[in-house]
Amino acid sequence: MDDEGIKRVAQLMRSARKIVVFTGAGISTESGIPDFRSPGGIWSQYNQDDLTYQKFRSHEKYRKLYWAYDRARYPAMSDALPNQAHEAIVEIERSGLLLALITQNIDGLHQKAGSDPNKIYELHGTVKEVTCLDCSTRWVREEITDRMDREGIEVPYCPHCGGPLKCATIAFGQSLPAEVLEKSFAYARNCDLFLTIGSSLVVQPAAMLPLEAKRGGARLVLVNLSTTPYDQAMDIIVRGNAGPVMDSIMTELRRFSDE
Ligand code: NAD
Ligand code: ZN
Repeated sequence: MDDEGIKRVAQLMRSARKIVVFTGAGISTESGIPDFRSPGGIWSQYNQDDLTYQKFRSHEKYRKLYWAYDRARYPAMSDALPNQAHEAIVEIERSGLLLALITQNIDGLHQKAGSDPNKIYELHGTVKEVTCLDCSTRWVREEITDRMDREGIEVPYCPHCGGPLKCATIAFGQSLPAEVLEKSFAYARNCDLFLTIGSSLVVQPAAMLPLEAKRGGARLVLVNLSTTPYDQAMDIIVRGNAGPVMDSIMTELRRFSDE
């Protein structure tokens, strides 16, 4: 492990006052949730072009396909447990330094780890809820899927307005929730340390967040296995698995506070 990098991150965190953490699919791979693009993963069994928002809206056939895909991927997410990296973020929050936790993940593991839901900004929505695309009513996921199982429904429709129901995640071609996006960019501008964990930084506009933070004067840290298009902009990069790296950073930080 990059001990020197870990020490430097801990030092930066120690002098930070307002931290924003930004997470992607890479923080959850150690919890057993694969990223959708790995060979043999659920993603590879479905054609991405058939799962767009526009197709979902256009035809029952695609809504059926979307729900089949959604239900196939869900158990891996609902059974998963948070790992050391999710827990480290809870610890950062308890230290009083966390301004916001922005995530591209839809798996709900930050909430499961104990992060304050009021500080979590889910840019790509959540698998834990279902929403009506016409009247925006929301349900806890199981309320809808239990009814689907009981009544043998393949595509659920809204009991209020008849609109199609969809998992409350952002599909390809669907716009990101404006308020969540605005707040995320505002927090990025206002922090003094922006910590990205497990994101390839290729999905826009989320990938612009670190640059926004830099423009606001923040230092940038990246914990990630692979390189990203924004590596040049980072102050410190620690390459490694998010769980053990974040755990070591927290151990280092605790050592400071014991001194
Ligand atoms: P991504 O663009 O966030 O890329 C994942 C990055 O994490 C890669 O750069 C990879 O090198 C790195 N990584 C993988 N395992 C790691 C580990 N253990 N430690 C540190 N880094 C690690 O994610 P993606 O798979 O390209 O997916 C794009 C979008 O799909 C996401 O933004 C998200 O909305 C959705 N998605 C969500 C989940 C989830 O909720 N868990 C899972 C897959 C995809
Ligand atoms: Zn409705």
